[in-house]
Amino acid sequence: MDIRSAHFLISSPREAQCPPPDRPEYAFIGRSNVGKSSLINMLTGRNGLAKVSGTPGKTTLINHFLVNGSGEEKGWYLVDLPGYGFAKRSKKQREQWQQMLAGYLQQRVNLQTVFVLIDSRLTPQQIDINFINQLGAWGVPFNIVFTKSDKNKQSETARHVKQFLHTLSESWETLPEHFITSAVKKTGREKVLSYIDSLNGTL
Ligand code: GDP
Repeated sequence: MDIRSAHFLISSPREAQCPPPDRPEYAFIGRSNVGKSSLINMLTGRNGLAKVSGTPGKTTLINHFLVNGSGEEKGWYLVDLPGYGFAKRSKKQREQWQQMLAGYLQQRVNLQTVFVLIDSRLTPQQIDINFINQLGAWGVPFNIVFTKSDKNKQSETARHVKQFLHTLSESWETLPEHFITSAVKKTGREKVLSYIDSLNGTL
């Protein structure tokens, strides 16, 4: 899929304030510093679109971007969700985040899938597994994007991916789609965009 236009629309504190659910939507989430902003910029080909390494944990907002939605085209929404694992978040902020996220993920009717980002340099982390299991409990469709694959040898990345999927298979009968990406080398861009394109086509 070609990206012809991409721009920031709005940040919303809760699902009810998000733009009308009138086009397919794809949300991105992961642990702080996993490479989410870099991935969003890489996919859209817009370097400053999502802020790379902004103030971690500062916000609990749902950030909407409109992609390929200019002129005659309806396009699709890309959503940047505040991630988990911020050490600096207060108890109150954590509760706000949880409420916002639970509401958004369970109520957003046009949400096609959630891209859960996993750092490909790491062995399986409990915090990621817990988050994925929570998605399962809510019945939210998701897939996995392994990030920063340029930082390790290919064999090491492959080992971590295998370990992660193996850990998931302990609680999941079928495994989700997964993608191996690097924002630096633009690895995986076409695959992720084709996947989005194929889901767009089902509407
Ligand atoms: P976020 O907090 O999840 O939005 O993560 P960022 O996109 O801000 O990335 C965190 C750090 O990892 C930054 O220093 C990025 O430059 C770096 N980073 C992100 N993606 C990649 C990648 O694919 N390869 C490499 N080598 N570094 C990356």
